Amino acid sequence: MRQRIYLKIRGIVQGVGFRPYLHRTANACHLVGWAKNTSGGVEVQAEGEETDIKAFLECLTSSPPPMSCIEDLWTKNMEPLNREKEFVIQKSSKRLEATLIAPDIATCKDCEKELFTPSDRRYQYPFINCTNCGPRFTIIRDLPYDRDKTVMSEFHMCPQCQKEYEDITDRRYHAQPDCCPECGPRVFFLDAAGRSVLGDPLTTARHYLSHGRIIAVKGIGGIHLACDAFDPQAVERLRARKHRPEKPLALMAASMDEVRKICLVSRDEERLLTGSARPIVLLKRKDAALPRGISFSRRIGVMLPYTPVHLLLFAQDSPGLLVMTSANRSGCPVLTDNDQAADVLSGIADGYLLNNRPIENRCDDSVVMAVDGKKCFLRRSRGYAPAPLIFHDRDFSGICAMGAEQKGSFALGRDGHVFLSPHIGDLKNMETFDHYQTMLDTYMRLFKITPKFLVCDRHPDYFSTQAAREMCEKKGLPLIRVWHHHAHMASCMADNGLNTKVFGIIWDGTGLGDDHTIWGGEFLEGDYESFRRVGSIRPIPLPGADQAIREIGRIGAALLWDAGLKLQAAPLPEEKLKAVSVMLDHHIACPNASSMGRLFDGAASLLLGLNQITFDGEGAMKVEALAEDVPVFHKDSRPPYPVTFYMDQQVRRFDIRPLIRAVVSDIEQHISGPVIAGRFMETLCHMALLQTRALNSRHLPVVLSGGVFQNRFLLCGIKQLLTLHGFTVYTHDRVSPGDEGVSLGQLFIGANARPGMEPAKKEGI
Ligand code: ZN
Ligand code: ZN
Ligand code: FE
Repeated sequence: MRQRIYLKIRGIVQGVGFRPYLHRTANACHLVGWAKNTSGGVEVQAEGEETDIKAFLECLTSSPPPMSCIEDLWTKNMEPLNREKEFVIQKSSKRLEATLIAPDIATCKDCEKELFTPSDRRYQYPFINCTNCGPRFTIIRDLPYDRDKTVMSEFHMCPQCQKEYEDITDRRYHAQPDCCPECGPRVFFLDAAGRSVLGDPLTTARHYLSHGRIIAVKGIGGIHLACDAFDPQAVERLRARKHRPEKPLALMAASMDEVRKICLVSRDEERLLTGSARPIVLLKRKDAALPRGISFSRRIGVMLPYTPVHLLLFAQDSPGLLVMTSANRSGCPVLTDNDQAADVLSGIADGYLLNNRPIENRCDDSVVMAVDGKKCFLRRSRGYAPAPLIFHDRDFSGICAMGAEQKGSFALGRDGHVFLSPHIGDLKNMETFDHYQTMLDTYMRLFKITPKFLVCDRHPDYFSTQAAREMCEKKGLPLIRVWHHHAHMASCMADNGLNTKVFGIIWDGTGLGDDHTIWGGEFLEGDYESFRRVGSIRPIPLPGADQAIREIGRIGAALLWDAGLKLQAAPLPEEKLKAVSVMLDHHIACPNASSMGRLFDGAASLLLGLNQITFDGEGAMKVEALAEDVPVFHKDSRPPYPVTFYMDQQVRRFDIRPLIRAVVSDIEQHISGPVIAGRFMETLCHMALLQTRALNSRHLPVVLSGGVFQNRFLLCGIKQLLTLHGFTVYTHDRVSPGDEGVSLGQLFIGANARPGMEPAKKEGI
């Protein structure tokens, strides 16, 4: 029977080859009708035999264009017209063009094949792309997404490219970055002194790499430093030159086969690795020969090539595994500019593989791990940003949430869409803060968002708070200030689409609490509107405040002092230990922090004899790494170390003193580090369970958030234990549990607060 249907499709369906796809699919299904872009997405009317229409819909839902993302597909049956001859693409007015931007997508299989086909006109051309792959966000200057509004405007299409571009049956129909060796950008190679090196740039680059040299490689959203990952000397040189002694280095492997040679890969992990976003995926390495210098941990970050330049780097006899670490000045955002690269990387890079296609929007690699069938983001950036998170039947229009500080981020609302910034970094760094403000401006311009009110952290000194205050003053906008851990809790609720009251286990490093002390080991109860702190851990004094965060031996000493033990077990020089002991005895410059992150720091210092740390989270990562091979604990086991609580006003606190005494006693009895680390974390899992049973008798859904839940042991352990005891546990999937995810929570709390009536303004800042 003949049928006609009317379709409305919403999502990322413009600028991703959706109309040509519809054209092709409709033809293949023998349908007539039309498709056109509208302000809301794409509209289609299709007519044909019932079975053909079914097949058409089936295609649409099961295999849409790779770069598209269908949020919503709405259908209605209509009366057949019985008069059309073919399926046509109707012209849309410019005004109605796309309002969403696709993230950058890894080179597709078709392009990869052409890249290595000698007869192809784009054979070994490092900028090959098509409608289904290539740069998007990183090249866009403005919307609507047209070539003249991208960095490609500087390159004029040759007639052949133009022909492909205009041919609806071609894979490059309306592919804005389309180009070829005739008309497109080109790569070039410079030596350490910045002199141009003759010959094929990629051959030179491969030669450099296979001879142990370090080269800068300009990718899609930034510049990397690369060297042969199997060459211990090259790796050491890179570490020494970059002044990066400990922080694990990310790797890029030529193929899945190469990944499997060095790592164990689950199906979820493989899906992440090979997916079009191509993030860095944390994998468990095998005992294969990899230089120790790559990482102290058995978890290493690996990604697959995602641009033609990367694919060509791995061609022929080059190493199958490269170190690929972001090139930047210490603490600064990843480099994107050729001249700046030569300047900043002088003395670090032995050569430069650059190109003349500018990077308009910086976008660092994303970092993710697969846990229990979900993603756990450590960094949500390239391949994900700026695709929005979508919340149907909600309206976030004009809300601008400014995020936290150390892992800066922002979230902007428009209708039911939330646009999250790509990875920004630590806003305390001036250049990073500039990057944050530039990116915020870019997002507001691209997505046409005019803030109606702002939401920020309650911490008055955060740079994001200051930026919010300034913007509000300048534009006369209301400001809503949100407690840090409330925002974490709301972030995990939003991530899981929860609207009810929840019980939040919020563990992180630092955040200002509503008693104006530092929190980070919290048990909260609440919703988007409000929260109550019901549990926590015993506060830890931090001798020297911020100094203790860098010199974690001080925290070790504080834990010993608090537990009534001898301070000598702390890894501090004698002089310093004396000073710290005086500070503790007299409560001088020792702010209290009920922070799980700091508890990990202190434990790391005692367990590993570690004092100075070189990057944020090093202590916690090393404790986790130590227990990597400790088998997952028995589900109905008892806590290995004592777990006791006490009431402090209305807050049920975990007493860390018996835990520390037990750890120290095990250290003194020469129990192995991995065993102690395992017992330590297992005890914390049980502590979470006991708190939840005591404080969440109503069995509210439990959300886990805060940077500490990037610790796989705790994340899995607590989820398992709580689930076993009948609790429903929600973890993050679409945003990071760490401070990068805070902006999403702020936005949701802001959306609920109805500005104008909010208390923040009355109190003043
Ligand atoms: Zn392609
Ligand atoms: Zn061309
Ligand atoms: Fe936090």
